[in-house]
Amino acid sequence: MSAEIPVNSLSRHIDPLHQELVQVSADVLSSGHYVLGPNVKAFEQEFAAYCGVAECVSVANGTEALELGLRSLGICPGKTVAVVANAAMYGTTAVLSCGAEPIFVDIDPVTHTMSPHALEKILSAPRHIDVVIVTHLYGQLADMEAIQALSSQYGFAIFEDCAQAHGARNAAGEKAGSFGRAASFSFYPTKNLGTLGDGGAITTNDGDLASRLRQLRQYGWTSKYRNELAGGRNSRLDELQAAFLRRMLPLLDGWNARRRKIATRYSTEISNPKITPPPAGGEDFVAHLFVIKTENRDDFQRHLAASGIGSDIHYPIPDHRQLLFGDRFDSLQIPVTENACEQIVTLPCFPELTDEEITRVVDACNRW
Ligand SMILES: *Cc1c(COP(=O)(O)O)cnc(C)c1O
Repeated sequence: MSAEIPVNSLSRHIDPLHQELVQVSADVLSSGHYVLGPNVKAFEQEFAAYCGVAECVSVANGTEALELGLRSLGICPGKTVAVVANAAMYGTTAVLSCGAEPIFVDIDPVTHTMSPHALEKILSAPRHIDVVIVTHLYGQLADMEAIQALSSQYGFAIFEDCAQAHGARNAAGEKAGSFGRAASFSFYPTKNLGTLGDGGAITTNDGDLASRLRQLRQYGWTSKYRNELAGGRNSRLDELQAAFLRRMLPLLDGWNARRRKIATRYSTEISNPKITPPPAGGEDFVAHLFVIKTENRDDFQRHLAASGIGSDIHYPIPDHRQLLFGDRFDSLQIPVTENACEQIVTLPCFPELTDEEITRVVDACNRW
């Protein structure tokens, strides 16, 4: 049988860059700067320019980008944050870390991102929502036009989680990370822009917010050894990771184009009444994950495995059903989310997947 097709392969992704990344490491080693040095500063400027925003503040990972981002918007005990429940607890964990209350919003059945309709229902209840976290899940921009209109009407701040959507853009060319008051990114190795360790960032057009974030990521210092801000910590991107990211950023659009091409082939060539692939996307989709739906998931995954094709589930447990909540959300019903969690399957999708491998995945889907 031919070789196993993995869901993702970091070695295939990094191998072509190996020599250059060794050189990048050597340069950092001999530079004498290892934390908050010239590479971090340059990467922040380059990534802000790429996203089309004024400011980028790098931090240690995407989870802290979310949490510090919320803190910079004043989220604390007593505040409420609306969030989807199908994004692996990332946003919810940040809300809980701030001591605030998560309000779960159902998703759109096609895009799997927050349903503006479901959000509006929650907003028209008497309780005030302070921030809405919009996750561009699987690399798909959420319906930002509708959510921005609701933001103007109801007065909440939009915080985008762009950990799966680096470079996704709308028809006007506006990119993920530029639609809300602020946005978080992760540079975990498997992300569309991923380094060789942990990394994260917050983007914003608000200079005051950016200064607050620069204080929060460094112990809450307003100047050296002067702690004025509560909620601070050590959360810094290091020079080595920043230098790797600077080398990779110019390649991101090419990687995304290849991901989109793979996804378009799947969307147009998978033709099996038992499988619902997402519709072929435009530039608002950077195909971080290619996720289909089927009512007989276990059998489908067994069939793929028998055909030498890896698959995964992103993500199997909706946030409100996670054990840490006990019975707190027992009466909450978000049926589209719950339904999706039971039907989703992730197919192999990464830039280095070959045309032959794509064909093998399509054939296996159509044979099932
Ligand atoms: C990966 C991810 C995060 C968390 O990023 P880390 O760098 O792993 O902390 C947050 N949100 C989403 C949607 C993610 O995919």
